[in-house]
Amino acid sequence: SLGFHNGEFIALDQKIIPIDERGHQFGDGVYELIKVYKGAPFMMREHLVRLEKSAKAIRLQLNYSIDQLEAIIADGLHRAGLAGQDAEVYIQSTRGIATRLHTFPNVEASTTMTFRPARVIPAELRERGVAITLAVDERWANCYIKSLNLLPNILAKQAAVDNGYYEAVFFRDGYITEGSSTNVYAVKDGTLYTPPATKRILHGITRHAVLRLARELNIPVVEEEFTPDFLSSGDEIFISSTTIEVLPVTTIEGQPVGNGQPGPITRRLYDAVIADATR
Ligand code: PMP
Repeated sequence: SLGFHNGEFIALDQKIIPIDERGHQFGDGVYELIKVYKGAPFMMREHLVRLEKSAKAIRLQLNYSIDQLEAIIADGLHRAGLAGQDAEVYIQSTRGIATRLHTFPNVEASTTMTFRPARVIPAELRERGVAITLAVDERWANCYIKSLNLLPNILAKQAAVDNGYYEAVFFRDGYITEGSSTNVYAVKDGTLYTPPATKRILHGITRHAVLRLARELNIPVVEEEFTPDFLSSGDEIFISSTTIEVLPVTTIEGQPVGNGQPGPITRRLYDAVIADATR
């Protein structure tokens, strides 16, 4: 494992962020997590384009271009001894270091990264599927921005885990939005349903891959709002993210989903994502 801070590779435990750093004090920044399969970052461009989009949405000028970030990622993986391995690259850019004031400082952005071996999702979770609970979406109106402000997400996730669930899935104004760190899908009568890519959800890179692969597999896709009841009535439910890829959900609020087993379309989409990531 290895860290990166504005041009220097550093040890992960090196103390580097001063007190007056805006990510630290205000959550004034954006981030990305990229998964690397046998040395090859999956959909890296898409992640870096989303980083720029998030930065632009908070009026933050990144201190690296996408091409520069790509070069740092390749270098970092190599230096971390992760060349050819399954790994995770975390990138965070903030509005930099300046005496605490709510107005924007006139300083450069600050970018840190970590390079770590990939976490492995236990095979048992994939085989049995996971349990989800529903939670009121108390987040702000701009959830398409991958901002550092994750307090509602971590509170919902921790409450879910404390109660024996794997993930909390949010609903807002009667409609499902997304999980605390995942996008969510229902399969009904062979059709794949997922909430549309509005400002209310993060436009997941894995979501993008799932929808593209579903279309390639001739699985009908509907991107429309649906209710918690509709989700619960799905023959299959699954969640997606860079970390978990595609993970079946087999109970919702303690009730079985479909026949209580991971479903065939979830399985096909998982296999397709892995094939795409490792091709
Ligand atoms: N929604 C939220 C709120 C998330 O934090 C994440 C994880 N970044 C996702 C969805 C999934 O996005 P991706 O597939 O790009 O990892």
